[in-house]
Amino acid sequence: MRTINHFVGGQEVQGKSGRTAEVFNPATGEVQAKVALASKAELDAAVKVAAAAFPGWANTPPLTRARIMFKFKQLADERADEIAAAITAEHGKVLSDAKGELIRGLEVVEFAAGAPQLLKGEFSENVGTNVDSWAIRQPLGVVAGITPFNFPAMVPMWMFPIALVAGNTFILKPSERDPGPTMLIAKLLKEAGLPDGVFNVVHGDKEAVDAILENPEIQAVSFVGSTPIAEYIYHTGTAHNKRVQALGGAKNHMIVMPDADMDQATDALMGAGYGSAGERCMAISVAVAVGDKVGDTLIDKLSPKVRALKVAPGTDPEAEMGPLVTKQHFEKVKSYVDLGVKEGAKLVVDGRTLKLQGYENGYFLGGCLFDQVKPEMRIYKEEIFGPVLSVVRVPDYASAVKLVNEHEYGNGTAIFTRDGDAARDFASKIKVGMVGVNVPIPVPMAFNSFGGWKRSLFGDHHMHGPEGIRFYTRLKTITSRWPTGIRAGAEFVMPTMK
Ligand code: NAD
Repeated sequence: MRTINHFVGGQEVQGKSGRTAEVFNPATGEVQAKVALASKAELDAAVKVAAAAFPGWANTPPLTRARIMFKFKQLADERADEIAAAITAEHGKVLSDAKGELIRGLEVVEFAAGAPQLLKGEFSENVGTNVDSWAIRQPLGVVAGITPFNFPAMVPMWMFPIALVAGNTFILKPSERDPGPTMLIAKLLKEAGLPDGVFNVVHGDKEAVDAILENPEIQAVSFVGSTPIAEYIYHTGTAHNKRVQALGGAKNHMIVMPDADMDQATDALMGAGYGSAGERCMAISVAVAVGDKVGDTLIDKLSPKVRALKVAPGTDPEAEMGPLVTKQHFEKVKSYVDLGVKEGAKLVVDGRTLKLQGYENGYFLGGCLFDQVKPEMRIYKEEIFGPVLSVVRVPDYASAVKLVNEHEYGNGTAIFTRDGDAARDFASKIKVGMVGVNVPIPVPMAFNSFGGWKRSLFGDHHMHGPEGIRFYTRLKTITSRWPTGIRAGAEFVMPTMK
């Protein structure tokens, strides 16, 4: 049985806690590896290593740091097939999607490679007579990332490339459900020339996470995962005086207006609802049909497509959707479908009966489609995180906007329409962090920043792009005057421009 160890100080380190977790192959239900779960002492030891590496790394010119990122990007491109295969093996998503995830992650590496430009400060000459002032952004120290199962390569890459080029050293605590890909990443960073101790991977569960939150040496924590844990991370981390950005769950609505191209809207809903088996924080899980005619058309067009979804192991090149990540998650999603039926929603396509020959123990759930979902139902209010799309019917545009704005989550949303005025109003009024106009999954590019509103994000900064640079650096403003300008005697009043 393969054991997935920690990676600290540039090498694999065996777990000493005696605790491990099983890593499953979601397509077969078999245990394929064991991952070490770190104790508080192991986490603290890794932080010491990262802290020792910090002064040297912080003093390394940004251009040198950036060149390591260029090299890492090149190595990751060369090994893309291997990384994608590792993602599919543990997560279950189809291979093409795993490659897509890697590409989106590596785009942040490309962005981070612009470090010398990104870290430029500001200079103001003569803020007072013969007095100059300038502002620089300096690294924080040791920072940590805690990541979810659904993007085992991309979400860590939202964090560490920017943290590293800014001069911080990093502790990554990946999801214990699919920890393998991060070990490949750690080894490639080393091969790219990253000094030992600058990037470390510590596997674990709540014990390791709590140790991160309590360790006084860790200056900042980036988290992506479910909302209850995000809220806990934010409050506990900030109570320990850390800077925290904690991205949580989602329930993303796509509004379909009567003037929308219905075929385009249907295809968008298929990809955004069922891609990666709905295990995406930007998945569309609610289609809001404006008017019953739109509702009927969508159901007519979606039903045959959902029934025809090709569900198969992620390694099957024909597969459109793979299994869910674990048996526990499969049971949870299935129980939401049971609940929806009990709550009175109309289950138009039932994926619960799906069985794949030869993969009877895999966590496969077919696509499910609900019509007549009402805002008071739990299947509407809660995040299901599976291949379950709900259609909610509203009488008009204003009701659609109200529905989205009143939901507790505010990660992503989209409107499908041919009406520029409606789209403009929607973009302006909607209380959601990422908005698509005829784009179902409006994930910002690496050079913009990613993040939701309301209970989809706790903290002040979104991830990557300019917000990432701000999060991983602190501002220092220097004001200087050289001797000729110094007058005799102390001044006791607030300095003002002279
Ligand atoms: P999760 O919250 O269960 O786990 C996330 C991380 O927190 C993991 O590293 C896990 O080990 C740790 N963790 C779990 N329970 C903990 C506890 N009790 N105390 C301390 N740490 C704990 O999330 P998940 O199931 O891995 O991922 C899916 C969730 O992530 C969904 O809710 C999804 O919407 C969300 N997500 C959000 C975004 C976003 O950008 N907003 C992106 C991806 C995923």
